[in-house]
Amino acid sequence: MNISTLTIGQIRKGLREKSFSASELVQEALRFAAAENSKTNAYLLLSEERAAAAAAETDRRLAAGDDPGPLAGVPLAVKDVIVTRNLRTTCGSKLLENFIPPYDATAVERLERAGAAIIGKANCDEFAMGSSNENSAYGPVRNPVDLDRVPGGSSGGSAAVVAQGTAVVSLGSDTGGSIRQPASFCGVVGVTPTYGRVSRYGLVAFASSLDHIGPFARNVEDAAVVLREMAGRDPHDATSAHAPVPDYQAACQQSVSGMTIGVPREYFDGLNSETGDQIQKGIQLLQAQGCNIVEVSLPHTPYAIACYYIICTAEASSNLARYDGVRYTTRAAGARSIGEMYNLTRGEGFGAECKRRIMLGTYVLSAGYYDAYYLKAQRVRALIARDFQRAFETVDALVTPVSPFPAFKLGEKLADPMEMYLSDIYTITGDLAGIPCMSVPCGTTPGGLPVGVQILTRHFDEPGMFRLASAFERAGGFQV
Ligand code: GLN
Repeated sequence: MNISTLTIGQIRKGLREKSFSASELVQEALRFAAAENSKTNAYLLLSEERAAAAAAETDRRLAAGDDPGPLAGVPLAVKDVIVTRNLRTTCGSKLLENFIPPYDATAVERLERAGAAIIGKANCDEFAMGSSNENSAYGPVRNPVDLDRVPGGSSGGSAAVVAQGTAVVSLGSDTGGSIRQPASFCGVVGVTPTYGRVSRYGLVAFASSLDHIGPFARNVEDAAVVLREMAGRDPHDATSAHAPVPDYQAACQQSVSGMTIGVPREYFDGLNSETGDQIQKGIQLLQAQGCNIVEVSLPHTPYAIACYYIICTAEASSNLARYDGVRYTTRAAGARSIGEMYNLTRGEGFGAECKRRIMLGTYVLSAGYYDAYYLKAQRVRALIARDFQRAFETVDALVTPVSPFPAFKLGEKLADPMEMYLSDIYTITGDLAGIPCMSVPCGTTPGGLPVGVQILTRHFDEPGMFRLASAFERAGGFQV
């Protein structure tokens, strides 16, 4: 068994044919993860006992002739902003260094019920704020493709563990690109489903109207299988949709001939030429599969970054107010009043990026500035969503780059937050509109760095997105 190339389908087959047991598989994943972690720092914790118990249960069911579930034995890593019962969940923050959640996120619970074995918690930017994983209080993650480079962020650990092959699939979160951008930097598949498709119960809130949970995988079909298992209505999250969950895996087999694909012209401004060349090759691949390629315009795209950084900071400033030293967190010592205790706890506990966002968010929500910033940003958000709606009147899907550049060197963009924020220029719009979007591997630059292509479809048209992504992956030979 070679854990670093296994797919969910191969695991099913291997277990059925008794080539390996779930326990052997999970032990191998844990051994490999421990060995690789000194290089990448992608795991904050390995959950040996929990993974072993899940695998033993799968083996027991198999021996008894029971159905072990669609994800039986699959080694899964979970981003550390998603809570796991009795397993430390830090959100990449010093503030939560001792936080042991009393419950599981719905997504985690559903995947475990489907047979998955949680092997560990993946490193990430503090409270999911960042694009390089350099904002983690527990040190940066290194990109397994090139250890001098970042894996992207904020779900950098989740992308890295799938790329290095220590986990077969993982969970990340995406608020402004945090699944798709690291997926593109590490050369794996990353999916941001429609807002409301997957319950956010147990996802530690950053910007609630933009936060999504989604899967990372080595191929499109595996991502489709994982999404199906965790999607669907959850009474614990009022924003989770009632819509039935289709068979995403079946959509992966359909032909794309005759689909109309829009290429938005605004998404090629500021694009690095090596990335651009790969994306053009990707578009030609789709054309060769019988897709009609048309140019479209999403005219409000240039306002997306400003709009996002007003809305997400406003929501973050409110969501992060709960970390006050009274609940959840480590409490700073030495305070003489409760006010001082709040100040000391928050001052010592939050990293620089969180502080920057809390201050920006408090400012844009404050009396006198609310109309000028927050309200205006909400209006721009509606215009951005309308751009997509109009485009989808004439096209079935949109294809764009994921990031303007491939993985950059550690430290390269730390000095200038604006430069870092620009990494998300092509991914933020999908979150603002709440539509499904994903990153699919699209070859490498001449220097060998992965490039991802982004596919976006209408609300709840994950089947259309997987259909196109899967055909693209097959045509390009990007499949595992
Ligand atoms: N990089 C973006 C930010 O820093 C997106 C983060 C995310 O999607 N969680 O806010």
